[in-house]
Amino acid sequence: MERFYLTVARVAKKTLHHMVEHRIPMLPDIYSRHFYRYLSSTDHESQEIIEEQQQGNLKEVYNQQDQGLSIMKDLSAMIDKLDQVTDKHNEQLDNHLLNLKSNDKTTDLAQLKTEITNELGLVIVNNNEIHTHIVDAQETVKRLQKKMEEVADMATIDELTGLYNRRALFSRLSEEHSRAKRYDQSFSLLLIDIDDFKCVNDEHGHQVGDGILRGLGAFLRQNLRDSDFPARFGGEEFICLMPSTDTDQAVQAANKIRTLLSHSTLSSKKMGVALQITASIGISSFSSGDEIDDLIKRADDALYLAKRRGKNQVVTEQEL
Ligand code: GH3
Ligand code: MG
Ligand code: MG
Repeated sequence: MERFYLTVARVAKKTLHHMVEHRIPMLPDIYSRHFYRYLSSTDHESQEIIEEQQQGNLKEVYNQQDQGLSIMKDLSAMIDKLDQVTDKHNEQLDNHLLNLKSNDKTTDLAQLKTEITNELGLVIVNNNEIHTHIVDAQETVKRLQKKMEEVADMATIDELTGLYNRRALFSRLSEEHSRAKRYDQSFSLLLIDIDDFKCVNDEHGHQVGDGILRGLGAFLRQNLRDSDFPARFGGEEFICLMPSTDTDQAVQAANKIRTLLSHSTLSSKKMGVALQITASIGISSFSSGDEIDDLIKRADDALYLAKRRGKNQVVTEQEL
């Protein structure tokens, strides 16, 4: 653990140094991007240590899933046991019924009545017990389901926007990168950054800002193709990974999103207001020899150019 904290501190220090040296604005989301960028590009030993810790967190997630499975096993065993008890009562009652039907003069009716009454009493107690267990079990299963869904989402979904998180993005990027290299295919990245988002926070407050991010998450999910992979890259920046998409196709998609967004208003119940926002988009596409970091860097440079040219526009790496 100590080693993990020391490593994070070392990477943090180098990241800060890099940001100061290159006069990069010292904002939390920008810092986090540069932290991960530094980590994935140069310092492989630190990367391993930090990933190890993340694996530790994942272990915790798996641990919860194991607990869930164990509860389900217990429930199943309990249902089996109750089933057996019910079978036994059913068998006894069947025998009594047969005796009654047989009309045999030797049958002691008074004795049979006592036996049936006792048996029915036990059946009622048993049924009540089953009912209580089933209600408890239903509650447990509901709780468990919710928890397991939360845990599964936590690992891949960004809580605020409902889009994929960084972890999911990098995992998918790595798959797509390998596929593109192996089959000589292309894929593109859209780096989407909200224009003047600071003004939204300053004028309407952070909660409204959060509402806008939530709204943009929903907007992107609605207006992208199913095969696209939209993720929150950090703060108010999003990356949409577009598999099997060349630059021209990516430009078309980006312009469609940009135009639609500039003509829409985003709102949420919590916000109480509807606001119009615009975004700038930088595009890069995979070509042989590219590492993931190169692609992100070029999309970032294109985005920077889009901002310099006046925002609310799409710029590709080809224009750099
Ligand atoms: P530009 O057009 O150049 O992108 O200007 P900007 O104001 O959007 O850009 P800048 O990067 O200077 O500011 C981004 C702002 O986004 C600053 C930060 O407070 C805000 N932000 C980042 N993450 C969140 C968040 O989760 N919620 C809210 N409400 N604001 C956030
Ligand atoms: Mg930004
Ligand atoms: Mg911005």
